[in-house]
Amino acid sequence: MLTISPIPAFSDNYIWHLEHDGEHWVVDPGDASPVMAALGQNPLSGILITHHHLDHTGGIDALVERYHCPVYGPASVEGVTEPLEDGDEFHLLGATVRVIAVPGHTLDHLALLLTEPGSRDSPHLFCGDTLFAGGCGRLFEGTPTQMYHSLRRLSDLPPETQVYCAHEYTSANLRFAKAAEPGNAVLQNRLSQVDNLRAEGKPTLPSTIGEELATNPFLRCHIPAVARRAASHGAEDNSDEVEVFASLRKWKDNF
Ligand SMILES: [Zn+2]
Repeated sequence: MLTISPIPAFSDNYIWHLEHDGEHWVVDPGDASPVMAALGQNPLSGILITHHHLDHTGGIDALVERYHCPVYGPASVEGVTEPLEDGDEFHLLGATVRVIAVPGHTLDHLALLLTEPGSRDSPHLFCGDTLFAGGCGRLFEGTPTQMYHSLRRLSDLPPETQVYCAHEYTSANLRFAKAAEPGNAVLQNRLSQVDNLRAEGKPTLPSTIGEELATNPFLRCHIPAVARRAASHGAEDNSDEVEVFASLRKWKDNF
């Protein structure tokens, strides 16, 4: 069985730790020391990388030096030994991994979808800084059109897909979501659940694609109530989902 647990790093990053039959992998190790502490005596078998930002890659060198393991990720990332591209498929940890290119936050951003054949477990999506619980990443390199298309590819995954983002941003994201769609009752409920989890010091992740479709304004640009709010924050044509998305993203940047 595949087990997935968060290794907290920096102020709000999660390095996801995957274990299956005594084999250990991590996703986006921005820092090596918390990974080594979590592994204890266990060796690291490999590293998965979603994009080039330092808080996702800063631990690669020290981990490779210590464990001599392969690094799978975008070819643009220094230290990657197994470059990945959109549509690639490979096997690890008893699962099939599918690579989905999701440019927008950065141009090299990849999402990784792990599916365990024969398991009743839902697919697991590692989406870095593209899709967040209740939000999405900032547009550092890509255009709104690219990011919107990337988010659509992720939101088309089965609703039970477990979503493992790389940051604990859920509470702040849902506060913005509430401003973008004040009448959404599911969103109000989610915000109280998230506040309870945070008060107990627990992670709010993973989320699911179904939850995101119901509460994440960046996946709800086609909903008239969201489009109307976007129009009051700059969207000139609120029948254009990309334009709604772009004005929500700009509004959130200054929220
Ligand atoms: Zn990033």
